[in-house]
Formats: sequence, C-alpha cells, structure tokens
Amino acid sequence: MRCELCGQDMHEGELGEKAWVCGNKECERSDPMWLSDSEKQISELLTENDEKVKALTTTTVAGMRCEIEFHKVRFMGEGSGTLLFENGERVPFMKSNGAYIFYTIEESMIHALQTNTFLEYIENLRHLSIDRVSEILEPLKKRTTF
Ligand SMILES: [Zn+2]
Repeated sequence: MRCELCGQDMHEGELGEKAWVCGNKECERSDPMWLSDSEKQISELLTENDEKVKALTTTTVAGMRCEIEFHKVRFMGEGSGTLLFENGERVPFMKSNGAYIFYTIEESMIHALQTNTFLEYIENLRHLSIDRVSEILEPLKKRTTF
C-alpha cells in the first residue's frame, strides 16, 4: 500500500487509528489520526457551525442574561435542553409536536419565553445544534455503513 500523497510505503494502523498510516514522517498521513479530504471538509463545516452556535448561546430574556444549552447526546421530542439564567435559575425545556414547552411556573418568565422573537431565536439555535450537525455528519455515516 502506497501513500496517495507522497508515494511512500504505508503500514497498518493500530486499533482506533487510521487503517493505513504513512511511514514518511514528513507526510501529514504519518499522523495515525490523519483526515481525508472529505473528513477535513466535515471538520471545517462542524467548526464553522460550532462558532455560529457559540455566538447564539448567550442571549437576554426578561432582562436577564441567559445561556441556552441543548442536550446533544440524549434529547427528548424534537430537541431539549436547559436555560441557565445569570441569577442561577435553570429552566428545562423541550420541543414537542412543533411547540416549545418551558418547565417553569413563573408567569412573567413564561410570557418572556413564549414571544415570537425568543421562539424564533431558540428554533434557529436548535436547528444549528441538532439538525445542521446531523446534515454535516450525514456523508460520514453513509460512508461507514456497509
Ligand atoms: Zn505519505
């Protein structure tokens, strides 16, 4: 097996590494975790998306600074997470049947959260945190299913 980039011999990688690793120390594929062009593209798109998510994570609700955190590993419904307010208050939420449910009994808070501005904001962030990430990872999943 010869390296596509430099033409040197490649050796088999260890478990968890790339199947083939280049023997030429000067070559980027001598890194056992080297990325192929499509993986590099995916990694760039994920970084770009991550920056958008980061920029939208903190906002102001009811005059308070609030951090919106989506659960990425295990989410309920069409997405769930927690709102973390600067006063330490935490409001869990989930999206179900197209609507957001915020778990708080504070009337004024519910009003502030159920405005179109905030709902559009959180929906955009949900899209970037969940749907967009799956879209970016889709080609990777296709390639690894045999
Ligand atoms: Zn090489």
